[in-house]
Amino acid sequence: MSFEFKTIIEPFRIKSVEPVRLTTEEERRQAVSAAHYNLFALHSRDVLIDLLTDSGTGAMSSAQWSGIMRGDESYAGSESFIRFEEVVKELTGFRHVIPTHQGRAAERILCGEVVRSGDTVPNNNHFDTTRANVEHGGAEALDLVIEEGRSPEVVHPFKGNMDIEKLEGVIRERGRERIPFVMTTVTNNAGGGQPVSMANLRLVREVCDRHQVPFFLDACRFAENAWFIKLREEGYAEVHPRDIAREMFSLADGATFSAKKDGLSNIGGFLAMNEDDLAARCRNNLILTEGFPTYGGLAGYDLEAIAVGLTEVTDEDYLRYRVRSVEYLWEKIDSAGVPTLRPPGGHAVYIDAKALLPHIAQSQYPAHSLAVALYVTGGIRSVEIGSVMFGKELPGGGEEPAPMELVRLAIPRRVYTQSHIDYVSEVVTAVAGQARSLTGYRITEQAPTLRHFTTKFEPAA
Ligand SMILES: *Cc1c(COP(=O)(O)O)cnc(C)c1O
Repeated sequence: MSFEFKTIIEPFRIKSVEPVRLTTEEERRQAVSAAHYNLFALHSRDVLIDLLTDSGTGAMSSAQWSGIMRGDESYAGSESFIRFEEVVKELTGFRHVIPTHQGRAAERILCGEVVRSGDTVPNNNHFDTTRANVEHGGAEALDLVIEEGRSPEVVHPFKGNMDIEKLEGVIRERGRERIPFVMTTVTNNAGGGQPVSMANLRLVREVCDRHQVPFFLDACRFAENAWFIKLREEGYAEVHPRDIAREMFSLADGATFSAKKDGLSNIGGFLAMNEDDLAARCRNNLILTEGFPTYGGLAGYDLEAIAVGLTEVTDEDYLRYRVRSVEYLWEKIDSAGVPTLRPPGGHAVYIDAKALLPHIAQSQYPAHSLAVALYVTGGIRSVEIGSVMFGKELPGGGEEPAPMELVRLAIPRRVYTQSHIDYVSEVVTAVAGQARSLTGYRITEQAPTLRHFTTKFEPAA
């Protein structure tokens, strides 16, 4: 007979290690004060477990490292580009593949070519760089995620789905000539890493066809999305995640992609599409600012690492471990009674700071306060996704708060072991137990866009 074991082990063993540094609470207090209470300003050596982001922070495989040695650094026509292009085409089916140094470069080029002042770009939820690129072009970045996706406590298998009626309404009302493209983010990072169903992608495709508006995927976490479709959507249980991913891409006219997520690489991205004219314009834009179309601001060895990463990321053992390990952390935090966004997403666990810290007004950034406390207490770096990141300044002074106040614990790929994760849940539980003693913050200095990266804070009196 064969046993069914519950533990989902890391499907790799460790060949090279990187020490992390233990610090005292007093040292961390000093470090965070010197950083003006902005966790982005900390030195990484002062962080024990870094859950700031899953972007570019993953561990590469031995196959990726050997790909790096094979990198062809020719300026034009590099073998590494040819391999990269082949893998991306095999996965996405798009005719044109334009390498970029990050996802946001792909967004900038796409928006630079098609977004005009007064336009509207609908998305389930714009990621912050996508929003910034759309708004930089003078357009409105409109979030049309379904109602369930707006409430942290509501459970739905595909909380990242687009509200199709609203999408239809927006296109009718504003006119298709004012909609340069519709985008869907898979998984929906800004909405909690929640997946989008194939059925919903198909409906978005139909609406876009009816109005002849191009449909792009923000595909940064396409593999995690494919895995959720396999687990949760009828008809996909027996389909391989790579085939699910191919089907997702087949519904779109193009995609922007950051290789720092499901590319399993430390840098890179691409912009891909079917339309020839637009691709030619985007390539010219690329040459102006990123580099020749066979490297796009990347080294040949980066293209190799991405090509291998894009092959490894749809492995079933990897995806099972990936999604399960995030869920494992969520289960521990949830069973300790800490309010979270549910169900857990593909790359991160989100703590609902508005529910945990009702005594801190949104104008004093409860999620920021919690993030600082997790660092001081346990050396864990997380990120605020609330009014610091998304609060809007009002014309008459003051701010409109963000709809949610979340702290995101993003899990780097293939980096931390189960004991690291157990430690994280212990720290979260300890901090939550003292929630009442946490206090708010006030902003002392801020930048006009993407302020969360550089804002300076002080504890509110
Ligand atoms: C990370 C991310 C981006 C931007 O990619 P970068 O490589 O960081 O520029 C865009 N959209 C989503 C959903 C992301 O998670």
